[in-house]
Amino acid sequence: MEQLWHEMQRQVCTTCIDGDPHGRCHLPVDESCALRDHLAVAHHAVVAFDGLPDQREHVREEVCRVCGTRDADGTCWRANRLECAFDRVLPAIVEHLKDLQARPA
Ligand code: SF4
Ligand code: SF4
Repeated sequence: MEQLWHEMQRQVCTTCIDGDPHGRCHLPVDESCALRDHLAVAHHAVVAFDGLPDQREHVREEVCRVCGTRDADGTCWRANRLECAFDRVLPAIVEHLKDLQARPA
């Protein structure tokens, strides 16, 4: 999982507004990122829902469920304020995880 995280830092964090060109995260210390916290869940969901047209939404659902920030009605204040990097860059996350999965071992 550590290698996967390094790949995500290289591919995703370098393009995130909270990251820098080296993939370092500059979120305040008291804030977390669902990509960092729940990468294993996201990766598992990409594999589990491979080939489905709504794969991205399944990945979002799996991660949001364990994140637990959503309200009872399913809305998320962080996503609504564009404060969730995972939500902002979900398409890129899914594409990079799919590419990594397709690479020969
Ligand atoms: S907020 Fe998340 S995606 Fe953005 S740089 Fe930090 S760890 Fe990476
Ligand atoms: S959208 Fe909300 S519930 Fe989903 S990962 Fe982001 S902060 Fe968590």
